[in-house]
Amino acid sequence: MIERTGIGASPGIAIGPVYLHSANLPEVAVRRVKDTDAELEKLTLSEAKVQERLEGLQQLHGEDSEEAEVIGAHLLLLEDPEFTGEIRMLIEDDSLCAEAATLQVTEESAGMLESLEDEYLAARAADVRDVGTQLLKSIMGLPLETWDHLKVPSVLVASDFFPSETATIPPGMAVGLCTEEGSATSHIAVFARGMGLPAVVGVDLPPLEPGTRVAFDGETGQVYIDPPQDLIDRLRSQQEEQRRTREGAAERAHEPAVTRDGTRIEVAANIGSDEDAARAVELGAEGVGLFRTEFLFLDRTRPISEEEQYEAYRSVLSDFGDHLVVVRTLDVGGDKQVPGIEIGEELNPFLGLRGIRLTLARPEMMHAQLRALLRAGSAGRLGIMAPMVAGKAELLAFREALTEAERSLVADGLDYSTDYQVGIMIEVPSAALIADRLAPHIDFFSIGTNDLTQYTLAVDRTNREVADLADSFDPSVLRLIAETTSAAKPHQRWVGVCGAMAGDPQAVPVLIGLGVTELSVAIPSVPIIKERVRSLSMEDCREVAARCLEAVDAAQARQLLSEV
Ligand code: PEP
Ligand code: MG
Repeated sequence: MIERTGIGASPGIAIGPVYLHSANLPEVAVRRVKDTDAELEKLTLSEAKVQERLEGLQQLHGEDSEEAEVIGAHLLLLEDPEFTGEIRMLIEDDSLCAEAATLQVTEESAGMLESLEDEYLAARAADVRDVGTQLLKSIMGLPLETWDHLKVPSVLVASDFFPSETATIPPGMAVGLCTEEGSATSHIAVFARGMGLPAVVGVDLPPLEPGTRVAFDGETGQVYIDPPQDLIDRLRSQQEEQRRTREGAAERAHEPAVTRDGTRIEVAANIGSDEDAARAVELGAEGVGLFRTEFLFLDRTRPISEEEQYEAYRSVLSDFGDHLVVVRTLDVGGDKQVPGIEIGEELNPFLGLRGIRLTLARPEMMHAQLRALLRAGSAGRLGIMAPMVAGKAELLAFREALTEAERSLVADGLDYSTDYQVGIMIEVPSAALIADRLAPHIDFFSIGTNDLTQYTLAVDRTNREVADLADSFDPSVLRLIAETTSAAKPHQRWVGVCGAMAGDPQAVPVLIGLGVTELSVAIPSVPIIKERVRSLSMEDCREVAARCLEAVDAAQARQLLSEV
């Protein structure tokens, strides 16, 4: 047996024979043509064909599904002057044949998006490649369907899958998806979760023979190639247990999460757009613990206007009614670059102009966002949160910016809410260490364990080489969480966790045992985290949390937690 560890992208255990899928991009000869009109005609016909196919897929998945949303973005690409318009120009101006022009524009556009080294834009590059390949195949008269050779239910393995490929997998023929590329936020993860298929991405796979038996755990990312029978038996019984737990969790998704001994824990969702809100409500989220507003700024060439932001925030707030919606002000810099917001070359971007530092340095951006938020506030219950705060001066500057935004709204005679909560992310160790000095100035803290772990352990969260060192269960990180909750308590401020740790069922006892009362998790994890809370008693959680603080390393803390 060979073992590998990838990134768990969609929960569940998959066991089955390997089906190797190759992207299979056709060879293209670069030809100059005389009759450019004929080439333009070919392109137009192919666009219509691809459009028809995509519309069919959209209907298949249901208008409101996430899959339909991705496919909708593909349909827009077909009409995008910077994409198909460019292809037309190459045919007209350079007399290139349609297939060569399509390939060139696809590669250039995708390459440009990839060079920005942003996870979200990398996913957009995959969209461009997907649509470009479909156009190319159609121009060359090749079949668009890719699953003709898949005859038995299998673990589908590829370097990566295009969304249009995952969307057309014949029903019942995939037991799981495994890719070498990709991240937990790539499309493949979205599709796999939508289809209830286990998936693991970013796996460094050895050469595989078709039909080899593989098994993987879509939660831990553990992959077993050619596993022995006793391991398969163990995985099968785990698979059965997980299925029962998932079903129970889904049935109770709309009930509150109360521990066995009666403590209520809020389970909220992390969202990135107004469209996410409806899905989060559907899965039982009790509000939003983190709205990553930088996603509103991505995928556009200029920053989003105050008015557009106002509409987006108002829509989310009204979707959640009486539940609190915590909106985080723009967190760019580090690995998150946004077109239209220029940050100069930095040697250490994660230690540079990022989060609150950037928005304080560009007050006009912060001002517009805060105005939009305050105006939208009357549509629901609003929390406003600043990212990357390292100390009191930044927190006070943030509060001053809020006061300034209120003043300007009064001056403009616009309606706005004065009844909102103010909080900060605790993701820089210094903020956790002086949380007692910050607590009087806030209503809540929300712990960002992703960055808190990165900065505490000095492990770059985007570097795969050191990914296994970035363990949020490390007692140093747990002690900073404990520092935060004990600083908040005398001031009666609530503390949530919105980093990925909150969505890990194993972490729930230590977090709530340390005094965290809100867990904000990826939308699909809401039901399962609620169910995990219901299985625990606060007394046991406090006890294990105290022991974890004394653990020598993450492995020992995990060991203690595996017994709860
Ligand atoms: C975090 O750092 O844990 C967090 C929630 O913020 P982001 O992942 O958006 O940096
Ligand atoms: Mg963060």
